[in-house]
Amino acid sequence: MPDFEHIYDVVIVGGGPAGISCALECHESGLDVVVLERAERVGGQLSLIPGPIYNYAAGFFESGETMRNELEKVAQLFLTDRIKTGCSVVSMNLAQKEIVTDTGVFRGKTVFLATGYRLKEFDLPIPNNFADDVLYRSGIYRESLKGKPIAIVGSGDSAVFTALDLAEYCSHVTVLARGETFKARPDIVAQMKNHNVIEAHTSSVVIRLRGQESLESVIAVNEKREFEIKCTKLIAKLGYLPNTDLFADQLQNARGHITVDQNFSTSIKGVFAAGDIVHPGYDRIAFAAGSGMMAARSIRVFLGHTP
Ligand SMILES: Cc1cc2nc3c(=O)[nH]c(=O)nc-3n(C[C@H](O)[C@H](O)[C@H](O)COP(=O)(O)OP(=O)(O)OC[C@H]3O[C@@H](n4cnc5c(N)ncnc54)[C@H](O)[C@@H]3O)c2cc1C
Repeated sequence: MPDFEHIYDVVIVGGGPAGISCALECHESGLDVVVLERAERVGGQLSLIPGPIYNYAAGFFESGETMRNELEKVAQLFLTDRIKTGCSVVSMNLAQKEIVTDTGVFRGKTVFLATGYRLKEFDLPIPNNFADDVLYRSGIYRESLKGKPIAIVGSGDSAVFTALDLAEYCSHVTVLARGETFKARPDIVAQMKNHNVIEAHTSSVVIRLRGQESLESVIAVNEKREFEIKCTKLIAKLGYLPNTDLFADQLQNARGHITVDQNFSTSIKGVFAAGDIVHPGYDRIAFAAGSGMMAARSIRVFLGHTP
């Protein structure tokens, strides 16, 4: 049972790469740290990465899940009961350094925010009879999609990875990007364009869903015309939004991304932030881990310890 009277040196919100990196460094420096993570396991978005990770200079990881297992191992080894999983932060008073969770209030001398990104949802009205045919995650449906045509909306890594993955199962995969080009990594865009099961459209937007009892096709529009795409499922890979709704109004921010200085300090003294949610920043694992580490150093200095 957490001691809610206790004042921690640092309360960390989010157990992704940024949060765990900061926690490990704070712990190694002898700081009294607690990590609040709403999911049942640490790792954040790592569990969503279906393909290999080869842009992190600590080895090759076959998938995000593999990296997450390693992160979890090190977190369990060194942070043990410092991590509160299944603990959702529901509100916070950053000036007072009070973090309210669904199990009680945590207080800190400093607060570190690393709540990462969440999936962006469709802004198209989805009729009830198609509710099960519009998906945000597809991995678990792979087998049921075997031999069927599907459509994917999105242009980033997630959309293209999903297309490549499902092309091994589906009869046809159509990918629709709103912009003039795909934003995903050039190597996977090239793979997608050369794949004989995948058809890629740019400057195209889905405007209607069609079908009787379930989805049969979608109507899309590009600069020249409307066109119909046969599909039994529509998969949305629309990008991500920063999970900052709970606290952005208390801090200087740039369209929801928390503004930080070079020490990852926010506009409130003693409140630090890192990872995907900060501006300027970069939504990559290496940045999350590195910025979490840098923030730990700044927290140490703020608390009067040597850098
Ligand atoms: C499909 C996909 C592929 C990717 N591929 C790569 C790649 O190949 N290479 C690469 O470098 N990066 C990749 N990324 C990006 C990378 O995963 C992120 O940049 C990184 O995970 C960001 O770490 P973070 O700690 O800032 O946030 P996150 O990993 O998002 O972690 C934030 C944590 O905060 C928790 N949280 C949020 N709100 C609350 C709350 N209210 N209370 C308690 N806990 C909360 C969340 O549950 C989560 O665990 C990919 C991402 C996706 C989705």
